[in-house]
This record gives sequence, C-alpha cells and structure tokens, in this order.
Amino acid sequence: MKMPLLKEAIEKLLAQEKIGRCDFHTHSFLSDGVLLPIEQLRRALIVGHVGYGITDHVSLSNIDIIPKLIEDCKLATKHWGILAIPGVEVTHVPVNAIEEVVEKSIELGALIVVIHGETIAEPVEPGTNLKAASIKNVDILAHPGLISKEVAGQCKKNEVFVEITSNKTHRVTNGHVAKIGKESNVKFIQNTDTHSPSDMLDYAGGEKILLAAGFSEEEVEIILQNNIREFLTRIYERL
Ligand SMILES: [Zn+2]
Ligand SMILES: [Zn+2]
Repeated sequence: MKMPLLKEAIEKLLAQEKIGRCDFHTHSFLSDGVLLPIEQLRRALIVGHVGYGITDHVSLSNIDIIPKLIEDCKLATKHWGILAIPGVEVTHVPVNAIEEVVEKSIELGALIVVIHGETIAEPVEPGTNLKAASIKNVDILAHPGLISKEVAGQCKKNEVFVEITSNKTHRVTNGHVAKIGKESNVKFIQNTDTHSPSDMLDYAGGEKILLAAGFSEEEVEIILQNNIREFLTRIYERL
C-alpha cells in the first residue's frame, strides 16, 4: 500500500525524543462508534493524540468499509498532521474463519489488525485468543479477558501486542492480563476501544490505566514509549 503521507508522519514521530499520546483501537460510525471518522480524528487531535488508529469492527459482511476509512485517514494526516491509521477489529468471527478475514482486511488496505479477544463481558467463541495469538499478521489481541499462559506465550512468539484497555466493560481483567502477560514477557499496548468522544484519553489518562493494572512507573514508560515506537516501526515497514 502506497501512502507516502503516513510514512512521513511516522518518520516525524519516530524522530521525537518523547512520543505523545497514541491510541490504536477505536471505532467510528462505520461500525458501532458514534462519530464520522473525520470528526473522530479532529477530536482526537484536539485531545492531544499524535497517532490514532480507527479499527472498526469487521466480518465478511462489512469489510468494504476499509476503503472508506482510508479516505478520512488520508485527509486528516494530510491537512492536520495527525498520524491517522486505518485498521480493523475482527470481531466475533468464527475461530476457523479469522485468518480469512484477517487476510482480506489486509488486502483491502487495513494497516492495523486488531482481534476482538475473549473479554468476559461477551460470548466470544472460545479459541479466539489462541487463534489471534498464532497469526503473525495480527497486531493486537484486544481485551483478552482471562488470557492463558499458552496464549501469552504465543503472543510473545508471534509478536502480537497484548492490550491493556480502558474500556469500562472490558478492563476488569486488566490485572490478570498484566500478570500473565508479564510472565511470558509479552509486549503490551494501551488502547481505549473508544466508541464515543468521552472514551478518549490523554497521555496521563493512559498512564493511570496502566498503573491501575499493576505496572510500575518504569514499565509504564516502556509501554507508552518503547512499545509504541516498535508498533509504529511495524506499520512503517508496511507502507
Ligand atoms: Zn464496539
Ligand atoms: Zn473494539
């Protein structure tokens, strides 16, 4: 996918000594969020985001939203300078079809692939976490609920980031996710799973969610700086 503007925006961020607030799991009204992608990006910019991914829910029924999302991400990056990345959250897809939906999403231009993990708040098909953790093209296992050691080990092996969420319904298991993930030395990422503007967090808000999950200040710094650098580098290499 040729997107020179996004490449340039990532180069700019990576050149900074400290990277500002980034969020790589959010929803617009192309799925079940409340805002048009471009309004969401405008508001994200005003809250202080320097990098923002819109990762709308997809299955085979609505995967055609990806090209639409790309258009607004390009607009925001070009005119406002925020790094806006189009992505998907593969959501409630049967375990044995997840790989197919991941591949189709990438073909259509998704630059971030999130898998909707086995949150204890929803009847996600068991095995979804393990499948997500075993696909190299998956970037983020979102809100993985009662994540197992096996899944954490696969996330480490396949370089799938494990999410610490601020989403009010999914965050109850953050402490467990942090504990099991640390044992396998996984890479964590902090996202909001924003559906409406009030879900957005600034940099300090992200720090608080991580501290509340049991990470030390030093670990928080690694997650919000080193891991974000690694994540951005991965996207860069795709462009
Ligand atoms: Zn949703
Ligand atoms: Zn989500």
